[in-house]
Amino acid sequence: MAVDQAESVRTPSSWVVVGLDNGGTSNNATVLDATGQFLVDHLVENPSRVLDGPESAVEALAGAFTGILELTRTPRSLVRAVGLDTPGPASANGVISSKGATNFNHVSWHGFDIRGALEARLGLPVVYNNDGNAAALYAHHQHFGAAAAANSSVSAIVGTGLGGGVVEAGAVIRGAAGMAGELGHVQIPLHGVLENDQPVPRCNCGFEGDVESVASLTGIKNNLLPYWLARFPEHPLAVEPIGAAAKALRGYAEKDDPMALAVFAQQAKAIGKLFTIAANFTDPAAYFLGGGVVEAAPHFRQWFLNTVRESTDLRDEQKAVATFALVPDRDMAGSRGAAVAALNTVIAG
Ligand SMILES: [Zn+2]
Repeated sequence: MAVDQAESVRTPSSWVVVGLDNGGTSNNATVLDATGQFLVDHLVENPSRVLDGPESAVEALAGAFTGILELTRTPRSLVRAVGLDTPGPASANGVISSKGATNFNHVSWHGFDIRGALEARLGLPVVYNNDGNAAALYAHHQHFGAAAAANSSVSAIVGTGLGGGVVEAGAVIRGAAGMAGELGHVQIPLHGVLENDQPVPRCNCGFEGDVESVASLTGIKNNLLPYWLARFPEHPLAVEPIGAAAKALRGYAEKDDPMALAVFAQQAKAIGKLFTIAANFTDPAAYFLGGGVVEAAPHFRQWFLNTVRESTDLRDEQKAVATFALVPDRDMAGSRGAAVAALNTVIAG
C-alpha cells in the first residue's frame, strides 16, 4: 500500500551505496547508508529488459539507480559505489559467460562486461557478485550483524538451479577464476539419498549426482519426479505435463502428500550431504537455506530445514557452535547483498 511504502522509506544521513539486483524480468533496487541501515524495506522493481540486449538492459539498470535515489530523496553526490548482482554464469568481475547464460541468451550478451558497462554509464565504482553470492552475503550480514567479519557461513539457495555461496570472515570466497561457491555442481555421495532402484540423477552441467541434479526445480523435473510418479501412478500430478507437475509439487508437500514429501526429503538429504562437505572443508559457523522453500507454509519450511540439519553430519564440537537458518527477505536478498558488498568495498578503501 502506498501509505506503508511512504512510511517504510527513509532519507540518508550519511554517504550511501546502491544495490541493484538484475533478474530475467525485473531489476530490484535498494539503498544502504554508511551505518548499515537500508533506506527501503520493500521491493522496488522495474523491468530489466535483458531480452532486448545489453544496451537496453544497462539503461534499465541506470533507470533503477535513478529511481531508487528519487524514492529515497538521496542526492546522487552521496553515492560512493554501486553493488550489482546478476544470475550466472559470469566471471568474478561480471563478464557474462562466453557460452551465454539462461538469462542472457542473445549472442550480444556472450562475453559482455555488464559490470564495466554499468560503471561507465553511471560514472561510479560498480562491485559485482553473482546472485547466489549476493544472497549468501546478505544472509550472513543479516544473521551476524556487527559480528559478520568474525564469522563464516555457507548458503544453499534452491531455485531453478541450486545457487549459494561461501562466506569467510564476512567476505564472499570468489576463487582464482571466480568460480568458487558453485555449490550446485559439487558432487555428493548418493548413498542414503536415492532409493536402491533409482537412476543416478544428471545435471545440465554434465555432471552426474551433483547437488543441483537433486536439489533444484530442474532436478525435480528431470530426475526425481519421473521416478516417483512411476511409483505413484495414481497421483494427480501423473496426468500433468512434467514441468507443470514439478512446479505444483511444493503445494502438495505443504499438504503432507506422501510422494511430494518423498521428493523433498531427497532434496533436503542432498543439501545435508553438501553441508557435511562444507563442515569438513571450511567448518562454517552458520548454514543458511534459501529459495522458494522460504515462502512455503511454516510447518513444511521447518520440516525441510530440520531434515537438512538431521542429514548434515557434524562432529559434537561443531554441533555445539553451528546454526541452521533460513535466508531472510528472499526477494530482496540479491539487491541487499549487492549493496553490502559495495559497502564493504568502500569501507575497505
Ligand atoms: Zn551440475
